Formats: sequence, C-alpha cells, structure tokens
Amino acid sequence: MKRVYNFNPGPATLPLEVLQEAQAEFLNFDNSGMSILEISHRAKPYEKIHNQTKADILELMGLGEDYEVLFIQGGASLQFSMVPLNFATKEKPGSYVLSGTFSSNAYKEAEILGVGKVAASTKDENFKRVPRQDELKIDKNSAYLHICNNNTIFGTEFHYIPETDGVPLFADMSSDFLSRPWDFKKFSLIYVGVQKNLGPAGVVVVVAKKSLIEKSLETLPTMLRYDTFYRKNSLYNTPPAFSIYMVGKVAAWIKNQGGLAEMAKRNSKKAETLYKAIDDSNGFYSGHADKDSRSFMNVTFRLPNEDLEKKFVAEALENNLSGVKGHRSVGGMRASIYNAMTLEGVETLADFMEKFRRQNS
Ligand SMILES: *Cc1c(COP(=O)(O)O)cnc(C)c1O
Repeated sequence: MKRVYNFNPGPATLPLEVLQEAQAEFLNFDNSGMSILEISHRAKPYEKIHNQTKADILELMGLGEDYEVLFIQGGASLQFSMVPLNFATKEKPGSYVLSGTFSSNAYKEAEILGVGKVAASTKDENFKRVPRQDELKIDKNSAYLHICNNNTIFGTEFHYIPETDGVPLFADMSSDFLSRPWDFKKFSLIYVGVQKNLGPAGVVVVVAKKSLIEKSLETLPTMLRYDTFYRKNSLYNTPPAFSIYMVGKVAAWIKNQGGLAEMAKRNSKKAETLYKAIDDSNGFYSGHADKDSRSFMNVTFRLPNEDLEKKFVAEALENNLSGVKGHRSVGGMRASIYNAMTLEGVETLADFMEKFRRQNS
C-alpha cells in the first residue's frame, strides 16, 4: 500500500498508528460485536471514550477543574457565530484581532449581529504578520478579545499571548492546538475545528472556563447555547461519536509520544528545515510571512512565477508529496506540517525543493 506525504491544510494527515488502531477495532469496538459507527452514544463503552477524551485534552493542556471540554458540531465556522451570540452585546461588544481569513470571518459574524469591534488588523499588509502587542487597541468594555492563534491560509502564528488588561481572551486554535506547550490558563475560551491537527472533520473541541459557560442568555435557541452542551456533558443530542473517538486516539498518541514538549521539539525542527530551504534559496523561494510571525504549522512561499509554481505542484506529486498548493488568496505553495507530519516527510520536501531550484533557476 502506497501512502503519500500529505501536506494538505485540512482535513489533514493523521498519525499512521492511530489509523491502524482504528482499523483494527473497526468491526468490533470494545468487544461489543458492533462498530463504533453503530453503537449508541448512551452505551457504556462510548461514554468511557467520551469522558477519557475530555480528560486527556485537559491533562495535555495542563488545565484543571475550572475548565470544561465541549464537543460541538457545525465546524469552527459555527463558533464564529456562537461566540458573539453567547457573550457580546451592543453595550459590551466583542473585540477582534484581524490577522487572516478566519479571524476576518469570525469578525463578520459579530458585525452581522452588530456587536463587533476591531482591535487591530494587518489586512493592509496582506496579513503577512500578526499584530504586535503595542498595536492592539483593546476597548476595556469588551466582552472578550478574539484572536486566531495560527493563520492557516497566510502561514502566520502568534508567538506571544496578548495581554488584555482583564478582558477575557478567546482564541480560534483550529490549526495549532496541542502543537506546543502554551499557557492555556490565560485563555477563557478556545475552540478548535479538529480536522487540522487533531482528528477527522465533524467535531469542534471547545475548552472554556466553567464560570463563563454555565449559564447562557435565555433568549438563545437550545443548540446555540454553550450551557446546553455544558450541562449535558455534550450529550444533549447525538454527538459525532466517530470523530470524538478519533480525537481521543490522537490525544492519547500525543501523550504517548511525550506530550506537548515533544510535539514542540519535532514541530520546530520541521519548520526550521523548511524555512531554511526557503532562506537558503537565493531568492528562488520567498516566504509570505514576516520572520517573527512565521507559522510552525503552515509554511507559505512563492516561486519566481506562476508557471514554475504549477510545475512545482505537479512534480512534487510525482515525488509522493501531496497537497502543497497554496490557498488562492496568497498564491504559491503551502506545506502544512501538523503534529502527524513526520520529519522524514519534511526532509523529503526540503530535498525536492533544492533539486527543483537547481533545475529551474
Ligand atoms: C479551517 C479553519 C477554520 C474553519 O473550520 P471549519 O471547521 O471548516 O468551519 C476556522 N479557523 C481556522 C484557524 C481554520 O484553520
């Protein structure tokens, strides 16, 4: 069986061991004689993984009893709406840092509701960096400050945690969650569309302070309220059991590999390898992101012209390197190198880049 090196941004590569484990259990989950796809979400064996997955996520994050893990559907994109619906009002709006496509989409939902404010934006620079702390204009009266931790499309990442002067900090961490140790206690609410770095599509992991989500506005419909998910252990309605099961396996895999410190070690080595290939190319490759905003998860770069970029994508594929084409809003290439991407895969790409450069410059 041939597997490629999968650099797609999401859904994205998963640890091979995890896929194999799921395959081995697929027809007979936990001696039930049924597949995980066929069992009730109220059955004991399912309940066990549901709760274990929550516990493992909190343990990896170093968070305690004051935080809750929720499983919600609708993608990270529904969180763009749920966040302002639950927390922002016209009198106490949500403040947004615009650092790329997804943070702008999040702000758009708050704007529709008339409850959004912009705290900073790097749109004028085509989002080649995240705003610095000294550029953040945080209205003290904000219900929250919303950031996108890693900008999947532009290939930039926050390497600092914003100081908010008491305003609760919220983050979309869809594309770099559990990729490095991070001071998660500084955040009041984090949401993660898991199909980037944590599992297959179908579920969003929300980690929030219990005090924040224990009571939602009475005027909100049931399925748009965080307190519905909190009070019912995310089992108010049928959860996406298979996706949660896979997230549980990936979380256990991260623990077994050595946790977030080990992930960070591997991820920085991988990112350094690719950025070095860019920086040592005499300008043949040019990175989109400013150096101090470079993402360790999504490496974006351009070639001298679009014909060469097309050729690069085609020849990469012939070399078993899949999914390197960038998003149309940036152009060029994007190599997504999440936790599950091996150093071997990244080195194969770096070698290919060097060979391609020599043949085409
Ligand atoms: C992919 C992505 C989203 C959108 O996720 P969906 O689950 O498709 O709604 C939001 N934010 C970030 C940072 C992403 O990478």
